[in-house]
Amino acid sequence: MPSRLIDPTDKLIQAALRVITATHYQRADDPHAADERDFAREKLVLAARDLVRGVNGLEPAEQPAQWSKRVPYSAGRTASPEIAPYSEDGEDCPACSEVQDKCRYHQGYDDAIADLGKAAE
Ligand SMILES: [Zn+2]
Repeated sequence: MPSRLIDPTDKLIQAALRVITATHYQRADDPHAADERDFAREKLVLAARDLVRGVNGLEPAEQPAQWSKRVPYSAGRTASPEIAPYSEDGEDCPACSEVQDKCRYHQGYDDAIADLGKAAE
């Protein structure tokens, strides 16, 4: 691991431990337990963000294997505009038309074919 990731990784671990403490080992009579749990979870998300930014800032050769592998089609889309059902015909698929790209079904199909091609190499 590149040294510049050690600090953000340690902060993520600390934040995760704080969430575990706040969710599994909180005192039953602590009036601030819910606030601490919420705060700990926020700190975890922020620490995760910082670590991701750190990894994204690395040269590709320094990044963990598979880091830059294309994320699933649905990732990053907060609300899927796609409509079901999917058509098996990629030329006339209403979901593809709606997103003006490949819908998750057809992207998944293409990814699977590509993976099969790589496995056959
Ligand atoms: Zn489609």
